[in-house]
Amino acid sequence: MRAGNEVAALPPSALKLRQEVREFLADYATEWTTFDRAHSWAGVDREFSRAVGKRGWIGMTWPPPWGSGRSAFERLVLQEEMLAAGAPVGLHWVADRQSGPLILKVGTPEQRQRYLPGIASGDISFCIGMSEPNAGSDLAALESRADRDTGGWRLNGTKLWTTNAQYCQVMIGLFRTQGPAREMRQRGLTQFLIELDSQGVEVRSIADLNGESHFNEVVFNDVFVPDERLLGVEGEGWTQVTSELALERSGSERFLSAFPLVTAAAANLSELSEPKVENAVLATLGALIAETAVLRSLSLMVAGKLERDEDPSYLAVITKDLGAELEQRTAPAVRSLFDVPPADLRRAIDHTIRAAPTFSLRGGAREILRGITARSLGVR
Ligand SMILES: Cc1cc2nc3c(=O)[nH]c(=O)nc-3n(C[C@H](O)[C@H](O)[C@H](O)COP(=O)(O)OP(=O)(O)OC[C@H]3O[C@@H](n4cnc5c(N)ncnc54)[C@H](O)[C@@H]3O)c2cc1C
Repeated sequence: MRAGNEVAALPPSALKLRQEVREFLADYATEWTTFDRAHSWAGVDREFSRAVGKRGWIGMTWPPPWGSGRSAFERLVLQEEMLAAGAPVGLHWVADRQSGPLILKVGTPEQRQRYLPGIASGDISFCIGMSEPNAGSDLAALESRADRDTGGWRLNGTKLWTTNAQYCQVMIGLFRTQGPAREMRQRGLTQFLIELDSQGVEVRSIADLNGESHFNEVVFNDVFVPDERLLGVEGEGWTQVTSELALERSGSERFLSAFPLVTAAAANLSELSEPKVENAVLATLGALIAETAVLRSLSLMVAGKLERDEDPSYLAVITKDLGAELEQRTAPAVRSLFDVPPADLRRAIDHTIRAAPTFSLRGGAREILRGITARSLGVR
């Protein structure tokens, strides 16, 4: 094991927080069906996000006055409990995980004041404007442009697969401020804080295999963005986005998306015939839980690195790659336990099977992650 990769033990403050979060979630538990829980961090519920904000659990690791400066371990415990319960965290997840930390790191005092309190209270949601019709894995091929105008910039182009844009007030979008794409590639990219009610922004929903519309196409037609909404440094967008992606890939949402199916299956074991119970518990559920425990250890290593201000990128990439693979296997494995699953569990299994192909695309495609792992091992 490389130095600094030890699995950290959770501090007492994190164990205490786990209990508090469980008590908080118990009030909601009876309202959520297994089908609801299967939506996990794609679930959206503004009132729930506000209730989480009220507890001080959004932006909890940010320094005062923005957050309460709690540890990465405490945030990890909060995440674990939310995901294991399948809580609808979709409206605050992105800003808590990456937009808020990015604004803290490279934003101006005015930008922090404008956005961080609203994020922490659960009122302001952010979406990620990176991918485009011709720029996914090869993000540096992006062509959406920001051109100088008096007092600001004019944005033109199309962002694609933008999760929850229809519910978000702000996008952090990556635009080309020097071009063309084929010559400049990573150079000349800049991030902007774009308020989505600006004139010229059009959000068009896209249905997924489940028939649900959680992601979108976002079209920019001559959208004016004032200078004070440029995030960080002009032309440094690539470096900023890379540090943001490490945060996007590092959390337990990368292996716990399908976990509510495991807990629901365990709760429904009485539906199984006797010989199957033994096989189910020992072989199938046991293996899923053991693999989850291994990934949790990796996630703890990532939290340790974040706590020590070290770069978690390659560990985050491994966690996401292995996690997506486990998540994709979970629904068929749980389905195999039951001749006829209870109706609610069956809907949840069906939903997860149809969502599963996206697990190894969102946040970086599998082959791309493996390329990064190969590079970190020095074999590429
Ligand atoms: C559910 C979901 C939510 C998303 N939310 C957002 C969001 O909020 N904001 C956002 O900006 N984007 C979002 N995305 C987009 C996501 O980041 C892209 O789907 C991802 O980067 C892959 O890009 P692509 O879809 O264009 O596929 P492509 O890049 O075209 O890849 C297609 C396939 O080819 C493989 N491939 C590509 N290049 C190589 C290579 N060089 N070597 C080997 N194999 C390669 C890939 O691994 C993949 O299997 C989301 C995607 C999904 C599925």
